[in-house]
Amino acid sequence: MPSSKQKILIVDDNPENIKVVAGTLDAPHLELAFALNGQDALDRVAKNLFDLIIMDVMMPGMDGFATVQQIREDPRYQQIPIIFLTAIDDERSIERAFSIGGSDYVCKPFRARELLVRVKYHLERKASMERLEYLASRDMLTGIYNRRKFFELAENLIQENNESIFAVIVDIDHFKSINDTYGHAVGDRVIQKVTSILAESLPEGAILGRIGGEEFAIVFRIDSLQKAVEHLEIMRNKIENLEIETDNATTLHCTISLGIANTAANHQSIEDGPGTDKPSEQRRNKSTLDELLNNADKALYEAKGAGRNRVKVRQNR
Ligand code: GH3
Ligand code: MG
Ligand code: MG
Repeated sequence: MPSSKQKILIVDDNPENIKVVAGTLDAPHLELAFALNGQDALDRVAKNLFDLIIMDVMMPGMDGFATVQQIREDPRYQQIPIIFLTAIDDERSIERAFSIGGSDYVCKPFRARELLVRVKYHLERKASMERLEYLASRDMLTGIYNRRKFFELAENLIQENNESIFAVIVDIDHFKSINDTYGHAVGDRVIQKVTSILAESLPEGAILGRIGGEEFAIVFRIDSLQKAVEHLEIMRNKIENLEIETDNATTLHCTISLGIANTAANHQSIEDGPGTDKPSEQRRNKSTLDELLNNADKALYEAKGAGRNRVKVRQNR
């Protein structure tokens, strides 16, 4: 983590109010930033990842409600806790504050210890949500994305640029016999070592996930098949030359097979497919990804059939 301090943005058009709130939240583990109006707050939120926002309501121009509505429109900022801190105390405003995505509501003049305890609660809650999100998206053995998260991120990548996406499926060769010969714990170590080589050799911006026992998938954007294959050959070669310690002071070697396909190979089958309905964007991305991985899997099957420890390309039909 770059900084262990938790960042709080205090938004209020009155500098005196900001001073009082800042004095209350003065603690070594908190880093405070300030904004004097709604637009200033939006600019700061776009530049920094805040852990919490304290928001005044009555401000000239864009008020606190309008500002929060804009912040919440962006999916990246939906998890930031926002505490309204305002002199307005009617029930309708409180209702409105929560309905537009506020996390809490404190009335001015506020009690210092109450504000502190609420800030602490929301910071802790955010940290545990992030921890849960991390655990739900990672594979326990390797720390890379699990199947669910891989598919989610890969679909997003396809949505952003449908044209030149490559998908790769990687499978460790004869892995069952590694398990049978050296035991499951060594098998696990092989999966971990292979993962680190894959991770360190990825093209820029690539997404890597463990999608099965000894099976991995990668998606990325690159401008030529040749460059894509060069990356995969580097991975394959590094893994071939890897020495992995076993439990009896010997070392073992392993190899991988890889199948690669790109979106260009998909277009024909998708656009010539039956049915006249235009599928929703998301379904289209999903079917593109499924087809892409299917093609990569067919190429992998060819690599296995041709003797393993090689890269095979699924050619356009
Ligand atoms: P091929 O070269 O055709 O891929 O053969 P293979 O032996 O690698 O493939 P197969 O699918 O027959 O065997 C995969 C084995 O991986 C079977 C399963 O017990 C083992 N496996 C799956 N997940 C794990 C894991 O998390 N740890 C360990 N140690 N083994 C696992
Ligand atoms: Mg295998
Ligand atoms: Mg397999």
